[in-house]
Amino acid sequence: MTSPNGKTAQELFSQSPYALTYNDIILMPGYIDFAPADVDLGTKLTRDITLKRPLVSSPMDTVTEHRMAIALALSGGIGIIHYNCTIEEQVQQVKKVRRFENGFILDPVVLSPDHKIADIQRIKQQHGFSGIPITEDGTLKTKLVGIVTNRDIDFETDSNRKLSDVMTKDLVTAQKGITLKQANEILRTSKKGKLPVIDKNGRLVALTSRRDLRKNRDFPDATKDKGNNLMVGAAISTKNEDRERLDALVEAGVSVVVIDAAQGDSVYEHDMIKHIKKKHPQLQVIGGNVATPRQAENLIKSGADGLRVGMGPGSICTTQEVMAVGRGQGTAVYYVASTAAKHGVPVIADGGISVIGQIVKALSLGASTVMCGSLFAGTDESPGEYVYRDGVRLKIYRGMASLEAMKAGGGKRYFTENKDIKVAQGVSGYVQDRGNMAELAAYLSQGLRLALQDIGVKSIKALHEGVKSGEVKFELRSPSAQREGGVHDLYSFSQTDAFTNSRNS
Ligand code: GDP
Ligand code: GDP
Ligand code: 5GP
Repeated sequence: MTSPNGKTAQELFSQSPYALTYNDIILMPGYIDFAPADVDLGTKLTRDITLKRPLVSSPMDTVTEHRMAIALALSGGIGIIHYNCTIEEQVQQVKKVRRFENGFILDPVVLSPDHKIADIQRIKQQHGFSGIPITEDGTLKTKLVGIVTNRDIDFETDSNRKLSDVMTKDLVTAQKGITLKQANEILRTSKKGKLPVIDKNGRLVALTSRRDLRKNRDFPDATKDKGNNLMVGAAISTKNEDRERLDALVEAGVSVVVIDAAQGDSVYEHDMIKHIKKKHPQLQVIGGNVATPRQAENLIKSGADGLRVGMGPGSICTTQEVMAVGRGQGTAVYYVASTAAKHGVPVIADGGISVIGQIVKALSLGASTVMCGSLFAGTDESPGEYVYRDGVRLKIYRGMASLEAMKAGGGKRYFTENKDIKVAQGVSGYVQDRGNMAELAAYLSQGLRLALQDIGVKSIKALHEGVKSGEVKFELRSPSAQREGGVHDLYSFSQTDAFTNSRNS
């Protein structure tokens, strides 16, 4: 049965004999009396963390390390650093994000005049940069005495030479308190690659780099904490051994932890949440994954400040086939979000997002944010190099329960206790180049504003309220309605999506 103006979400889901996916549903248009620019995309990640954009990157080793987390936080979303690495490596990732200040490198890596060229080569390999300020004792506590950059060591064959031999001592510096605009002006006129910023005692307080100046933009919507640092999340497993990881992440200043488990309603996860809430009551905790209100209630009871919804919808995921457990993502998000809302707990719709319309649907079903893997894995900021296949620029993207990721230490979210017999619940593949993350986030945001305008709501909050009151209406799409809504009856058409086109135009 259809209704002239569509159905409420409650009618739609309760009357459907099947669990529904995003593609099964469509929203009805509302009344427009405002411009897209008036749409507010502010939302909640957890009880206490507010974002300006509903975008979260997945804790996967081909998606989120510090560069992705910085790009997303600058764009108003947040990145969750994966844990398929040592505690120390994950902590370093978190610190790099928090240390980032648009244009200023606070707490830069420094060395002393007694260090060797080999030390710079090691830093370059580890971190990717080689512009290293030199202080008297190699810490930020003593005076700046020189700088060594790429050009100073390019042709050096003896990596045992001391830095005091190769460093430039006559430096162009700026005084603490300088604005980014002024710093950029000095970088421009001095034509140097780096500008060290020092305090009145000659101690280094920051570094600005020409590369950052070149891509310098304002990020008024950046996700920052009270100390004005970019916010970042990190994933941990439910295992007891990760309590140590948790403490190290908290020490490093992580804003939120995501407990990464494919089936979140386990005694292990409940114990971990209770432990966190007791030991680090300030820390926000996201539990999951869940697909039913019963699981959600249990995790909320244990203390979860946010929930991650999705069992099986991921692009690289084979859980529903292999385990025969899971749920259509539209239904999972709607029922879990409706329950969580009663407790004031926001939910993340995790997995199965490949186009803007699916983000719109996830939000309209009650999600406050979406978590993306494949959509972000092809950007410049995801870990890994681009490769070419048949002339197409690609990046590797793999499920954390794919054999490849499990061999590299992943799969901790899948209770894989027997190390000899691995049952994969994911695959490894390639995704297409999507360019720069900041541009992708801007594109998705603009698409969302236009969609919310069509629905006739000025904010994500208004969307949630409209769906709850029944004002915002939906309809089921038959298979032929889905075909009708896609591209059809053309002799040929360009396969590239609108984002790729908009970047190329
Ligand atoms: P370099 O000339 O090899 O140091 O590299 P670039 O200046 O071209 O790029 C370095 C990038 O790494 C910039 O985007 C910096 O903001 C970033 N970065 C982050 N932390 C540091 C740091 O401690 N030192 C340096 N030199 N760069 C850093
Ligand atoms: P690169 O292009 O990545 O090697 O980096 P730079 O453009 O920063 O450095 C070029 C040369 O200038 C190197 O020999 C640096 O040691 C030197 N240099 C860097 N900063 C300063 C500075 O503030 N003053 C002076 N006089 N030289 C600098
Ligand atoms: P995507 O955005 O690519 O559709 O889905 C990403 C989500 O899939 C992740 O956030 C995570 O919840 C889930 N996921 C990641 N790796 C695997 C895996 O190997 N197997 C399964 N079942 N799910 C995965």
